[in-house]
Amino acid sequence: MSALSNSLAATDIASTMHPYTNLRQHEATGPLIIARGDGVRVYDDRGKEYIEGLAGLWSVAVGFSEKRLADAAYKQMLQLPYYHTFSSKSHEPSIRLAEKLVEMTPEPLTRAFFTSSGSEANDTIVKMIWFMNNGLGRPQKKKFISRVKGYHGITVASGSLTGLPGNHRDFDLPAIPVHHLTCPHFYRFGQEGEDEAAFTARLLAELEAVIEAEGADTIAAFIGEPLMAAGGVLPPPAGYWEGVERICRANDILIISDEVICGFGRLGTPFGCQKYNFTPDIITLSKQITSSYMPLAAVMFSEPIYQAIADNSAKLNNFGHGFTASGHPVATAVALENLAIIEEKDLMGNAARLEEKFQAGIRSFADHPLVGEARGAGLIGALELVADKATKRPFDPVGRAGAVANRIGHEEGLIFRSIGDQLALCPPMIVTEDDVAEIMARLGRTMDRLPAALAAEGIA
Ligand code: PMP
Repeated sequence: MSALSNSLAATDIASTMHPYTNLRQHEATGPLIIARGDGVRVYDDRGKEYIEGLAGLWSVAVGFSEKRLADAAYKQMLQLPYYHTFSSKSHEPSIRLAEKLVEMTPEPLTRAFFTSSGSEANDTIVKMIWFMNNGLGRPQKKKFISRVKGYHGITVASGSLTGLPGNHRDFDLPAIPVHHLTCPHFYRFGQEGEDEAAFTARLLAELEAVIEAEGADTIAAFIGEPLMAAGGVLPPPAGYWEGVERICRANDILIISDEVICGFGRLGTPFGCQKYNFTPDIITLSKQITSSYMPLAAVMFSEPIYQAIADNSAKLNNFGHGFTASGHPVATAVALENLAIIEEKDLMGNAARLEEKFQAGIRSFADHPLVGEARGAGLIGALELVADKATKRPFDPVGRAGAVANRIGHEEGLIFRSIGDQLALCPPMIVTEDDVAEIMARLGRTMDRLPAALAAEGIA
């Protein structure tokens, strides 16, 4: 390691606090400093090459060296680097992006509200719905329904919607009224003797029972990712979303499809709700919207929601919500260029075409002695590591085996994300067939080395 790298690492340890990191461990091991990117690859500060198998944080659709996005940002910065969208002010990139997103997203979504992050977008949704229902004279209709292992962000409201214990414990969450239903993951949550259809039926009966117990007039909305991503890449069981939609419609409960990861073709359909046949009232978008070259998120919503909010804002003389960076001109200009590239290169079609090869690659690890389940859809997949394949017994404590796999993956030149002991892959949407083959080869070498490495560390 060069002297510069050494001092950068030391400065990192001395002066930063990393998100989603075991901080004491980080003080001992230091950071992996990524210095540059090229296509689906990134390089660390020693020049070592990695395939970025998680597209950064599930987000860099166009790869790590798309000059057109740099040019779009530069051009917009010269023209109008910043302006806001409060009190009727506007600018062309945010108007054009709203128009483009309305055109791309499924009916009945007719409106966009911009934020900088997925968490802010989901917080905005909570407040929009509360504001709407207060205006409609039904102030009791405020509760949300979410799912265990759902991921919707980490701010106080969105973090409450998230259904992962690590995001609640010691953060005093949930802080808003939310009920978390059983996680729709058959492998882990299916019961003995239950087939997938019976599992779906049980989950839907649970939803109906919760609505019955709480009262439909107190429940505002159901929020879910079409396929749960950050919870471990968990595709829903067949018939699940159709059933959720039917029950929500019958009870006047809005449906929010959180597509921060599933949006823009990740599952092989333009939006995740289309993969699983349901029609949301609201969609959350972020990440691939700009390929994460700039921070941006969008809440897409239907006309009745807009009309109710607008009526209430007329009564109150304001819709008192928004961010300094809502619709930021550089972020929205970059999003427009990024979406143009996604369309010109047909990256959504690429994901659909490569789905079979990618999923076959993931599922080729199903027989590995440490893999309990190999799963996914489109260009997203995961291997769930288990201590005992026959009984599905997890490693104890959870997470150590995943961390070892992660380390070996790095040595083999593959970055994926270990979520506990689940190894998640979600490569940039520009991947080629050869890239997919190379990802699977590197994952294969990682998995070949894993049993001995776990034994050496006494992990069983
Ligand atoms: N929703 C989903 C489905 C996500 O995956 C994420 C981030 N991984 C978020 C919301 C939160 O987005 P952010 O990290 O930009 O706040």
